[in-house]
Amino acid sequence: MPSAIISDIHANLEALNVVLADIDARGIEEIFCLGDIVGYGPDPARCLDIVMERCKWALMGNHDFAVLYEPTGFNASAEAGAYWTRAQLEEEAESEPLRRRWQFLGKLRIRERHNGALWVHASPRRPINEYIFPDDVITSPSKITQIFERIERCCFVGHTHVTGVFTDEPDFYPPSDLDGVYKINPHEKCIINPGSVGQPRDRDPRASYAILDGERVEFVRLAYDVQAVVDKIKAIPELSDFLGQRLLEGR
Ligand code: ZN
Repeated sequence: MPSAIISDIHANLEALNVVLADIDARGIEEIFCLGDIVGYGPDPARCLDIVMERCKWALMGNHDFAVLYEPTGFNASAEAGAYWTRAQLEEEAESEPLRRRWQFLGKLRIRERHNGALWVHASPRRPINEYIFPDDVITSPSKITQIFERIERCCFVGHTHVTGVFTDEPDFYPPSDLDGVYKINPHEKCIINPGSVGQPRDRDPRASYAILDGERVEFVRLAYDVQAVVDKIKAIPELSDFLGQRLLEGR
């Protein structure tokens, strides 16, 4: 039975709705979320409610952590966004949804084992905060080698918002090099990033997610109403206009 892997929604309701509609149209029932449900975007409460309802489980991302505890290593606009998000989630008039959302955030998992793979938001050695960048295979191959030493076979990560597959050569393959599909080789290690639903950073503004079916991983990109989100961000003084601009450019 296929399942969907979504990550880095970042309170982007328009992108999340388009991704879920695609998942539903394919008849996929099981959804896993790799974290960063909130932060940057204008609809944290709605996105949390949807993930709570639709996902089998969700992992703790650094932005979820920031809202729950404190922002660590954030730039000024990310930090302001985290505090605004926290205020939104504290402002709820009704106590029941408020309680449910905070309880859900507090119970997000740090790592998960499923389908013979490790699942984390960021990296196997620092599951909430370490970035595994495509450039690292050239500039820091030893970093990638050390990260691969910590996994037995396959690992799913989000965090960088860059869709693709790392192998332990080390090398990185964007979906365009794979015709959109990666077959997990049981004798090789790999780190797979489904990309970001709500803030892609690989110069393709379309929402990104992946479908896992046995050993087959298919990467999916979907256009959505980016301008609607840009306008919402513009209307919220605490969210920097740059957070909207970057959605238009996919960076
Ligand atoms: Zn993120």
